Amino acid sequence: MKGPTHAMRIIAHPSPVLKERASEVEPASDADLRQLAAKMAHAMYEAPGVGLAAPQVGVQKRVLVFDVDEGLGVLCNPVIVSRSAQTEVDEEGCLSLPGLSVPVERSVALVCEALDLDGEPVTVEAEGLLARVIQHEIDHLDGVLIIDRATPEERRAAIRRYNEIHDPVG
Ligand SMILES: [Zn+2]
Repeated sequence: MKGPTHAMRIIAHPSPVLKERASEVEPASDADLRQLAAKMAHAMYEAPGVGLAAPQVGVQKRVLVFDVDEGLGVLCNPVIVSRSAQTEVDEEGCLSLPGLSVPVERSVALVCEALDLDGEPVTVEAEGLLARVIQHEIDHLDGVLIIDRATPEERRAAIRRYNEIHDPVG
């Protein structure tokens, strides 16, 4: 497959890199972060997807990118500081679980504090799809996948479906 030489491969489940907690970053002194974010954004748009976390490209740093048709966002060390009591269950997919979607319960709105690539504090107030994407990507930074958010029955069924798609022999 032809593509830019800087293209990053998105890592698919199962992989240990998707199960670890990623480390905090220091944007002001980490010269690689800007390039990492640019490569992640490229991989996200190529996929295409609406969000991507650094562990999905094999980098254990707390960095995520997103674009829900409102432009590219990059968050470093994102923390959800408040969330709505109201939740919503919706089918969710993941670039690291290609072909699979499972129902996941998420808060419908949240406030997220993070740093931008200059190390400046940013606050994101999100609802709907963006709130869902931010929760999904922060889960990745904690080594949590959508199958970990499903009920035990849904999880078993989802893993069976996933294995059927990706390992026809099994
Ligand atoms: Zn994902």
